Amino acid sequence: MQSPIILSIRHAETETYSIPGYHIIPGTPTPSDPIPADYQRIAALRHVPGHSPNNSQGIVDSADKDRQSSEPVPPNPTAQEASQVSTQIKLQVETFVEPSFQENAYLLYCHQGGSCWIVDPSFPPQTQHIAHAVERARLKPSAIMLTHGHADHLAGVGSLKQLWPDAAVRIGQPDQAMLNDPQQTLSAQFGLPVLAGAQADADLRPQQELELDGLLWRVLDTSGRSPGSRSLYCPAQHVVITGDALFAGSIGRTDLPGASHSQLLENIRAQLMALPAQTRVLPGHGPATTVEKERRSNPFLADGA
Ligand SMILES: [Zn+2]
Repeated sequence: MQSPIILSIRHAETETYSIPGYHIIPGTPTPSDPIPADYQRIAALRHVPGHSPNNSQGIVDSADKDRQSSEPVPPNPTAQEASQVSTQIKLQVETFVEPSFQENAYLLYCHQGGSCWIVDPSFPPQTQHIAHAVERARLKPSAIMLTHGHADHLAGVGSLKQLWPDAAVRIGQPDQAMLNDPQQTLSAQFGLPVLAGAQADADLRPQQELELDGLLWRVLDTSGRSPGSRSLYCPAQHVVITGDALFAGSIGRTDLPGASHSQLLENIRAQLMALPAQTRVLPGHGPATTVEKERRSNPFLADGA
């Protein structure tokens, strides 16, 4: 059987902005702010009737079923068939590093012109870079996945939702009320409230299975950092996106409201450390790692920790 290959692109960004007391990008969109001109340009193109998807500046409209892709488009399998074909699919992961928090947003897709998921969009300019990548690969965002409800993982939701209103905002039910409560996003405390700017459309329920163009993903309960923290695991591609539950050599802070250190440790051990050793861990901050490496060297997971 062909081994799955994960194509990975890491976008290193260099621009850094800060405001005393809170590192944030000036002009971060909120529901009351106009969206940046760049978004308006893309959104306008997207809604021009008859707009050609071959225009390199345009976003492919999700209603356009006649688009041409530079890569062959595989058949869309049923959920039953997906588990058989998903090892033959190449998952493509693009990582976008938000410069102030070193927060990682991920763009996941299988082929150009297909569906994609955007995971944890943060502050501009990261959101613009995500939008450009979606546009470049002529992708159709079907979901904006949020690993949890903290400001640095959801600040870009409203802007992206304006571009792609059909992309479902999915987040664990216990964190859904956090999206537009600046106290719960942990941003009001820093004097500059950050909101998602959109409501949750759907839950991320533990053990739920979701499909992205033939690839099956399983939702894992990694609550503890926040009440509804989730990880996204793709068994066929040996990859898990862990948000702020597990980092390379560390785990998420639990000295903040709504957190539980014991719950987080229990879930990391039961849900993440139980995955196959070669599973690639894509965390919410910092570099990627593997389950094997964290089992061996993460100081928070040593016996007795
Ligand atoms: Zn974070």
